[in-house]
Amino acid sequence: EKFKDGLTKTRDSFVGKMNDLVKNYRKVDEEFFEELEDILISADVGVHTVMDLIDELKDEAKSRKISDAVDIQPLISEKLAELLQKSEEETKLNMQDNGLTVILFVGVNGVGKTTTIGKLANKFKQEGKKVLLAAGDTFRAGAIEQLEVWGERVGVDVIKQHEGSDPAAVMYDAIQSAKSREADVLLCDTAGRLQNKVNLMNELEKVKRVITREIPDAPHEVLLVLDATTGQNAMSQAKTFGKATDVSGIVLTKLDGTAKGGIVLAIRHELDIPVKFVGLGEGMDDLQEFQADQYVHGLFA
Ligand code: GDP
Repeated sequence: EKFKDGLTKTRDSFVGKMNDLVKNYRKVDEEFFEELEDILISADVGVHTVMDLIDELKDEAKSRKISDAVDIQPLISEKLAELLQKSEEETKLNMQDNGLTVILFVGVNGVGKTTTIGKLANKFKQEGKKVLLAAGDTFRAGAIEQLEVWGERVGVDVIKQHEGSDPAAVMYDAIQSAKSREADVLLCDTAGRLQNKVNLMNELEKVKRVITREIPDAPHEVLLVLDATTGQNAMSQAKTFGKATDVSGIVLTKLDGTAKGGIVLAIRHELDIPVKFVGLGEGMDDLQEFQADQYVHGLFA
């Protein structure tokens, strides 16, 4: 239900246009597919993804001898689902059964990184896990305080140093604390400035090295947080971060605030990084594990 609500804007725009399309073009022809192409692109599905999708639809329509526009609708949702379908393993977080799980969050400022950390902390806490936060964004003014606000709200501790301190040192501290307190999960914030890409990426690498030195197979996840409302900008951020570090999954935030929820498809198809969570609001409970069937259902239902 949450998923459905979160996709309201995308669905209203997408389904509205689709219904008009089917009404206007009774028959599936070249023009029909061109219109469909426009609709998908305007939902930020991404040009490459749309082209592939349209090609497949054309082939499929031909081989199944579909000529009525109404009959092609179920085919579209079927193809979208196929595009998103990945093994469940891939979208599940890599949690350690015994010992500490370290999750690193990366992404540019304003995408919802702190909020996502807060929401996940809450989710883990509700599962009975012992959670600790690491205030690794020592660069942005107010970032540490903001994480502390979430820490208080959820009821978990934040390991921090002062603004401007070395993020790698914060991580070292956080891991020692997590070990001595026998925490289950350590959620690590990082700085998100992109003005100086080289510095940012060097800093990320240094942070990762410190973590790996303390716990050889950590970080267990590197989650890239992207803002769905920024559309193709999110795509280019994903490419930049993907080049600089091993991103294991994506959290797509603010899906509730955009009619361009098709970005999920573009990410899946063009980057091949699994979307693991989606943000569907500003509240503590507004984070959902991503499930392809729910997503497609949310688009059409
Ligand atoms: P950060 O700079 O990446 O840490 O971003 P913040 O966590 O501070 O989030 C920036 C703004 O986006 C805040 O106002 C959040 O409340 C808002 N936000 C974060 N996630 C979501 C979401 O899933 N939906 C909506 N509607 N707002 C969100």
